[in-house]
Amino acid sequence: MARLVMKFGGTSVADVERIRNVASHVKREVDAGNEVAVVVSAMAGTTNQLVAWARETASVHDAREYDTVVATGEQVTVGLLAIELQRIGVSARSWLGWQIPIRTDNAHGAARITEVNGDALVERLSQGQVAVIAGFQGLAPDNRITTLGRGGSDTSAVAIAAAIKADRCDIYTDVDGVYTTDPRIVAKARKLDKISYEEMLEMASLGAKVLQTRSVELAMVHRVRLQVRSSFEAPDAPRLSGPEAIVPGTLVCDEEEIVEQQVVSGIAYSKDEAKVTLVKVADKPGVAARVFGPLADNSINVDMIIQNVSEDGKSTDITFTVPQAELARAEDVIRKAQPEIGCDEIRTDTDVVKVSIIGIGMRSHAGVAKTMFETLASKGINILAITTSEIKVSVLIASEYSELAVRALHTAYGLDGQ
Ligand code: ADP
Ligand code: ASP
Ligand code: MG
Repeated sequence: MARLVMKFGGTSVADVERIRNVASHVKREVDAGNEVAVVVSAMAGTTNQLVAWARETASVHDAREYDTVVATGEQVTVGLLAIELQRIGVSARSWLGWQIPIRTDNAHGAARITEVNGDALVERLSQGQVAVIAGFQGLAPDNRITTLGRGGSDTSAVAIAAAIKADRCDIYTDVDGVYTTDPRIVAKARKLDKISYEEMLEMASLGAKVLQTRSVELAMVHRVRLQVRSSFEAPDAPRLSGPEAIVPGTLVCDEEEIVEQQVVSGIAYSKDEAKVTLVKVADKPGVAARVFGPLADNSINVDMIIQNVSEDGKSTDITFTVPQAELARAEDVIRKAQPEIGCDEIRTDTDVVKVSIIGIGMRSHAGVAKTMFETLASKGINILAITTSEIKVSVLIASEYSELAVRALHTAYGLDGQ
């Protein structure tokens, strides 16, 4: 017997028919003698609709009320799944975030989990009841509902798995695992049997939305065995049960568990970037601090930074990137600081994409970045900014080249399947 957390994303619970399919996956594990906690997302498209309604009502709105609205999608799916499980003879009860409770900080819209009390859940599981838990929801210190940021149900699932000491946390989604890159844009992407926590963390934070970044962070800290697999495979395949299951999807695990390590394991892209260029900034000490100080004071995350000589040869241009969602705020902050910075002009560009290569093999191999730059050059793709860390290299390019770049790099690093 094992204790399992099974998480199903939006497309897996998109309508009643799919919820029935989810219920049969759950029944399979229950019939095999396992204790099961299920975490579900809202039906596909629901959260987008709720966000759109909040924005339509007022483009700038109270984040607490935003959470009150967007948290509702998950209440529908937990109720429906509990009803369906009961219908097919499986004892089940729904749980909203506040009923567990899943405690968070008060950063509404992107709250961080601070504590999950798993006692009540463990008690019910031991009685043979399936716990059907609303993903994405939390409870702030002042007892208001919070949400965990888009894609947050993954994080709910991992946090629950850690709290109830589950043997495994299975993330069921619309692809059958983690691929070398997004299989929706590269047909030759290959499914990985295993990926290290470190690489998955980079992949997620650099744009591969198959897992929310925080869910990987939490899994790494609490050593949760995390699997990504398809909810569309036959629910009754017997080899999929139990703690020692043959992994049909991708296991996220310690790097020591991975035998064959590629230099580059995956490629990610993010269209969520915006580029800001400050034209003709005085070339003297202290200027960078005057630019980036106010941005940091306003909690605006700056990612890539480059500084080069202006056209006049006397001053310098400073270019940096921020998340697109924060561009308006960043522009505002820079405009206010402009007299002190003393730049001529502020230019912004949202038609950019960040493409990244990721692999722990980079730690011990030279020349990895060179292949990236040569490959992009051979396709005539201009690099606007570069940033590196120990296990990744990211470049910013014009968004029109994003698919061409990802495909060319996928081939260049030998990742293509058939
Ligand atoms: P869910 O609704 O189940 O949470 P998501 O849409 O959040 O599903 O995540 C699954 C999607 O992630 C896939 O449909 C796929 O397009 C995308 N994706 C991006 N990069 C990858 C990758 N490297 N491997 C697998 N899927 C990826
Ligand atoms: N329903 C939420 C969203 O769409 C959470 C999730 O799906 O993980 O972002
Ligand atoms: Mg998701």
